[in-house]
Amino acid sequence: MDMDKLVSLCKRRGFLFQSSEIYGGLNGFWDYGPLGVELKRNVKEAWWRDMVSGHDELTVSGGAPSTFDMVGLDCTIIMHPQVWKCSGHFDLFCDFMVDCTESKKRYRHDQVRGRWVTYREQKVFVTTMAEADKEQGELEAKALKFFNIRAKDADKLAWDGDSVSLATINDTKQVLAPDAKTLGTLTDPREFNLMFKTIVGALGTAEDAAFLRPETAQGIFVNFKNVVDSSRVAVPFGIAQIGKSFRNEITPRNFTFRSREFEQMEIEFFCKPASSPQWYKYWRDRRYQWYLDLGLPRERLQLRDHHADELSHYSCGTADIEYAFPFLPAGEFGELEGVAHRGDFDLRSHSEGKLTKDAEGKLIVELGPDGKPKHRGSGKDLSYFDAEAKERYVPHVIEPSAGADRATLAFLCEAYTEDKVPDENGNPRERTLLKLNPRIAPIKAAVFPLVKKDGMPEAAQKIYRALKKQFNVFYDEGGAVGRRYARQDEVGTPYCITVDGETLQNGSVTIRDRDSLKQWRIKADDAVAEVTKLLNPAGS
Ligand code: ATP
Repeated sequence: MDMDKLVSLCKRRGFLFQSSEIYGGLNGFWDYGPLGVELKRNVKEAWWRDMVSGHDELTVSGGAPSTFDMVGLDCTIIMHPQVWKCSGHFDLFCDFMVDCTESKKRYRHDQVRGRWVTYREQKVFVTTMAEADKEQGELEAKALKFFNIRAKDADKLAWDGDSVSLATINDTKQVLAPDAKTLGTLTDPREFNLMFKTIVGALGTAEDAAFLRPETAQGIFVNFKNVVDSSRVAVPFGIAQIGKSFRNEITPRNFTFRSREFEQMEIEFFCKPASSPQWYKYWRDRRYQWYLDLGLPRERLQLRDHHADELSHYSCGTADIEYAFPFLPAGEFGELEGVAHRGDFDLRSHSEGKLTKDAEGKLIVELGPDGKPKHRGSGKDLSYFDAEAKERYVPHVIEPSAGADRATLAFLCEAYTEDKVPDENGNPRERTLLKLNPRIAPIKAAVFPLVKKDGMPEAAQKIYRALKKQFNVFYDEGGAVGRRYARQDEVGTPYCITVDGETLQNGSVTIRDRDSLKQWRIKADDAVAEVTKLLNPAGS
């Protein structure tokens, strides 16, 4: 699939716009247009309903089916700065960047990609930031320019190996930076903290510095005791939150995939340490299934367990749910969601103190010479008394952490389809459609009068109003009906209802299915019942 076509459809039909576009845009920030906001809301609502408000999953423990609680939270974006010290973000939430002394541009070290190429015994590592499908073309153009040879002599360039990340290259003197004309212009990689800084209050002193949250998870941890004390939840249970997060990404790219402001859908699931490995597997599989149910196919959706050396500081096990986004090189997958076993690190560090890395790079609570935590966390006891087992422990946490924007983008990529359908004269006509799962489609049904006369608009509007009470529906009477169908296909509307001459005679209308193009007649009075049935096939 050509990503440019999807990006252009998103702009043309009001799914996504560049933020502050009339001022030239702001890199890494995106606005959702009228249809985009519906789509993303539907994704978030499906998640909230399936994971929280409608959650009624039974699990089998000790042979007997049992259920567990899921509750929600909505925490602030700016929190006490100590939260980020104890979570490790203040000291450790960094990416490596490199600067180009010639172009003055800055790049994320691991995102610069390139290939070794030799011409007349000079070997150079040519690099680019281009997306996968344009990468080799860009590298070749840069190499031709650098060696000052003509395009027809491109076969004189001797390429060596596949493209690799700059992070794998030791000798940077032979590197041609993405926007440079001379060699060796990149600085050594430097750490860069991804948290956005801000000032709270009017005084603006260093002590007033605060941060925009880089994840929603910490709001859940610091409220753990509040939730336990105020709600009748008992371990095992989960707390969910949907909200904005901010990361000052060095090079935002790939449409909304890597943005600087984005929305997360996170669950922190608290369980007894001994049963945490089972819960980890449970959540990994349940979250994978959620994407399948909403339309991502198994061949482009993978559940990848992290290798031991890839595990985050806190984790005894992490799996990524990944989708083969079309802007990635063939065979590569991009993260939609991480499901991590976080042990008891978060609750422990918020009660005991600041986390730091040990010699092996593992995160530990920093101890003073007296063997006690050197920096206090909140000092509050965040352990839990299990009334059933009559024991006190710090619960272990399983964290399924998803991105609302990445999920929305994956559903859009997967839905984008081009096919040929017969026009009114039976000739093949190209059509573009979004095969979105009806549950997340921005518009559930469109209602058309075949022509703008003979009482058809009035009959169609009556159906539209009845449907509008329950669903987001669209009324359109402009232009040829074929064009109106095409416009709805392009935004993923699953059903179109058309009022025609027969409606006026016998009260029936046609209903058309977006994917199969099947049309059948129903009574106009049954339109609401029919759309309801079609949207809830299992009667759920
Ligand atoms: P990546 O490796 O792609 O930077 P991550 O491992 O840092 O992602 P997490 O910290 O696990 O991501 O965040 C959980 C989820 O939040 C991700 O799976 C993703 O869906 C979403 N997310 C993280 N960073 C961004 C971003 N810059 N833009 C959009 N979504 C993001």
